[in-house]
Amino acid sequence: MSVFLLPKDLCAMLTSAIAEFWWSKEDSYCWGFTNHGSYSTQSGYRLTEAILTMNNSANQSLPPVEKKLWGDLWKVKAPPKLKHFLWRALSGALAVKERLRTRGIAVDITCQGCGQASETICHVLFCCDKARRVWDLANIPLPPAGFSRSSVLLNLVHLLSVSKNRGVDVSIQRVFPWMLWQIWKARNSVIFNKLHADPHHTVSHAYEEAELWYQAQTGLIEAEPHHVKTSWHKPPEGSIKCNISSSWINASQPCGVSWILRDSRGSTILHSRRAYSYIHSKEEADLYALLWAVESMSNLHKHDIIGGDKRTHAVST
Ligand SMILES: [Zn+2]
Repeated sequence: MSVFLLPKDLCAMLTSAIAEFWWSKEDSYCWGFTNHGSYSTQSGYRLTEAILTMNNSANQSLPPVEKKLWGDLWKVKAPPKLKHFLWRALSGALAVKERLRTRGIAVDITCQGCGQASETICHVLFCCDKARRVWDLANIPLPPAGFSRSSVLLNLVHLLSVSKNRGVDVSIQRVFPWMLWQIWKARNSVIFNKLHADPHHTVSHAYEEAELWYQAQTGLIEAEPHHVKTSWHKPPEGSIKCNISSSWINASQPCGVSWILRDSRGSTILHSRRAYSYIHSKEEADLYALLWAVESMSNLHKHDIIGGDKRTHAVST
């Protein structure tokens, strides 16, 4: 390939001619990370986060202990999106303010959730008042001395140990990736939308999302309560099947219900979830789940549906 230089004025003429040909106006600058071409704070954060992720994943390798932890995290049953999120948390690739500051971006690093500490990854996910409320409500056993204030690694090691603890309810064992993800989403909601999520809803959403994901897995679903293995069976050819789930913690917290509709190949057609307040028992939660699923199917004009096996978890009574 030949490389040659053109005079500056000729370059300007060419640029102008090309712009006129394509756009019939003078060339101009625009922001390429939004559909409308104008800068927005959210798109700026997302770009920065992407850059942080790329820099960390491409150029930095984890120390051996963290590699071992990542190996264990990779075996956790969760969607790839959540595993990637856990990796980013472990490797310092979440775009919290403290990380942005280390990349030379001039931002006030005070946490917007509590206004009392620097916004580090460990603070956001484990130690911020917002996160602590969630962990207190989540029924997940915490370390005796509480979560580490400085080490994401130590805290993830603890959560992994809980996930392998057969003495803990299975729904609690497996929920921690979703709990961390929902805490992160709640943090983003504060930053981008100025909305403070109710920690009860954060906890409910985590349990519901985990339940939905497990339900959506075709074939053998492991780790049912009391370690009973249960198979999900596809409906006959030409029919659809609706599975219903409820998540009840106690009467003072919102209860989550969900349904998922799948075809004879096991593919998800539709799914949805919602929360109810002041539900006094898991049996009542089951009834509301059933009632809402039937109403939903009727509203969606879905008929001739096979009722799937209902899955319920009561985190505590
Ligand atoms: Zn905070």
